[in-house]
Amino acid sequence: MEMKAPRGTHDIMPEQSGAWQAVEDVIRRRCARFGFEEIRTPIFEQTNVFARGVGDTTDIVQKEMYTFDDKGGRSMTLRPENTAGVVRAFLEHRLYSGPMPVKLYYLSAPMFRYENPQSGRYRQFHQFGVEVFGAPSASCDAEVIALAWGLLKELGVEKLALHINSIGCPTCRMEYQKSLRAYFNDHLDTLCGTCHERLDRNPMRILDCKSPECKAVAENAPKMIDHICDDCKEHFQQLKTYLEVAGIPYSVDPMIVRGLDYYTRTVFEIISEDIGAQGTVCGGGRYDGLMRLMGGPELPGVGFAFGVERLLMVMEALGKLPEVDRTSDVYIASLPNDDARKKAFELCMTCRAEGIRAEIDHAARGLKAQTKYAGKSGAKFMIVIGDDELANESVRIRNMADGTEIESSMADVAKNVLSLIHA
Ligand code: ATP
Ligand code: MG
Repeated sequence: MEMKAPRGTHDIMPEQSGAWQAVEDVIRRRCARFGFEEIRTPIFEQTNVFARGVGDTTDIVQKEMYTFDDKGGRSMTLRPENTAGVVRAFLEHRLYSGPMPVKLYYLSAPMFRYENPQSGRYRQFHQFGVEVFGAPSASCDAEVIALAWGLLKELGVEKLALHINSIGCPTCRMEYQKSLRAYFNDHLDTLCGTCHERLDRNPMRILDCKSPECKAVAENAPKMIDHICDDCKEHFQQLKTYLEVAGIPYSVDPMIVRGLDYYTRTVFEIISEDIGAQGTVCGGGRYDGLMRLMGGPELPGVGFAFGVERLLMVMEALGKLPEVDRTSDVYIASLPNDDARKKAFELCMTCRAEGIRAEIDHAARGLKAQTKYAGKSGAKFMIVIGDDELANESVRIRNMADGTEIESSMADVAKNVLSLIHA
């Protein structure tokens, strides 16, 4: 049997994980500045968390979930997104009885969707996302957008577009859905099978269908933004004002409805033109009805999710992936005898205690082989421990780039390597 990672999944190999970590560091620091704290929820939940929380007319719930019965016969699902799980945790731990708002983020959290794998679309992928609970004002929508937008700037990603829209509240949406249904009823022949089903239960889903025929019909459909009530209009106006205050350029795109059932009012996407069809790196919006829908109190929410793979793809396309130094600072070679190897081990530990990246040999190879390895591995400095060094308690620290050497007592090796590194 050929052992291969499952279709649509990827190993993140050591030559890539450094860039992931560097990006994650930037994200963590940024979240902290914005007052967000990390939450980690389970990778699987009871299926009804998503069926309810994501909505059973969505592509995710209808087609994309990894659902299985566990050995106790309970239906479980690998999380396809994280908002539903975070809301579940928020309710379970009764965070609603504490001070508001509650600002949470999750980072590089694995998500699972049974999709057609292609560039930027996988079956296991990772998301960075934030959720704010208990903040009804549009200033908070602008705050989460500013977090996302500024993050991309901080990571050196410049060529981006922010698309915003309002999909109203349940009240104004009811009226709108009537006119939408009437419109699509006139185009039944063109719509795909799935959209036929959506027509009854949630016609707005049709606007988000990926089929080119449905897309063409959707282009000319009535737009939610033209039907929102006065309160929703005011909220949307406020959002635009706050975005202007933050200096964030946006365009209103009436076609954005987002793939999830729970959105209300603000929806947005940040799109990069640098990675082709799967160019949406970040999507989010407001979901004032979700908490209630999941059995909790009436409490507004707003958030977004980034696809981390897509973020890194954009950075790579722009040549902005962080360069990560994978080489050690010092390689401590030794004669393959016990005394020399023990001394190398001891020096190595002393160096590491001082924050130096030190390596030694673990195969009792000869000095020649160790020297060759040190050169190949790109170590910046090298020390050789032979009989003379042991007898004199003194070594030479060799700069591998230019061959220069300095003398050092064994006791001072860490101190001297440190000053050479920082020279
Ligand atoms: P799309 O329209 O591309 O299918 P979506 O609306 O399903 O996206 P969301 O559920 O909003 O996406 O997820 C937020 C982000 O997660 C997306 O903007 C994207 O960057 C990323 N993402 C979603 N699905 C995948 C996937 N299968 N593989 C990789 N990244 C993904
Ligand atoms: Mg999708």
